[in-house]
Amino acid sequence: MSQSALELIDTHCHLNTEPLQENVRAVLHRAQAAGVVHCVCVGTSLATSQAAIGLARQWSMVRATVGVHPNDSETVTDELVRHLDTLAADPSVVAIGEVGLDFYREHASPARQMEALRGFIAIARRRQLPLSLHCREAYDALVPILQQAGPGLRGVIHCASGPPAFIQAALGLGLYVSFAGNVTFPNAPALRQLVSLVPDDRLLIETDSPYLAPQPVRGQPNEPAYVAHTANCLATLRGIPVEKLGRLTSDNARRLFRLV
Ligand SMILES: [Zn+2]
Ligand SMILES: [Zn+2]
Repeated sequence: MSQSALELIDTHCHLNTEPLQENVRAVLHRAQAAGVVHCVCVGTSLATSQAAIGLARQWSMVRATVGVHPNDSETVTDELVRHLDTLAADPSVVAIGEVGLDFYREHASPARQMEALRGFIAIARRRQLPLSLHCREAYDALVPILQQAGPGLRGVIHCASGPPAFIQAALGLGLYVSFAGNVTFPNAPALRQLVSLVPDDRLLIETDSPYLAPQPVRGQPNEPAYVAHTANCLATLRGIPVEKLGRLTSDNARRLFRLV
């Protein structure tokens, strides 16, 4: 198959962050050349959520999410939540995120993080949007919150990590699971083992760029074009051609985020 048959969707990137933000035109051009048809640009604060919407309005292949990263949960006020709720009504917004729990860095207390997350889940419910969920070292805390949210919750565990039981619990809740560039690292066999737990119809790929550049370009600023390296890694793990991996993950992304 020719390179042009490859179709990829980067389901989590930070085009609204330096160094990508100052170079969006070239970054998106390189992404298209690598087969990327959509980039989901993720908000981590009010300002970056607004910037994500601005980029989505400017570039047809970009969609936005709005949310506050759990590390910044101390900034979450009722007023901020109301503001994000209003932004979530914008037609370019395809998810609430990234939101979640991060007990690795103690920027915000677990209690504040959990309170903020419950507020964001309420917005996702009201706006009928999926969640882009960040979870680091908080696996046992996240699952009960998602369970309490009740049936019909939609979303993705972005930059998958954690014990197999966490991934299985997320799948049991109907969530998708997205792998980032760190799945390609030589010292990440446990991460690669998680890939086999995820059925074809729940698998997503992302860059989390400019962070976590995959192995061949590790150490450089990451960008959406490099999602192709993650796609190649997952295709090898599954024993399928990368074009097929691209097709099935793109179909999943379109279904979850209702991309058109
Ligand atoms: Zn994250
Ligand atoms: Zn991110």
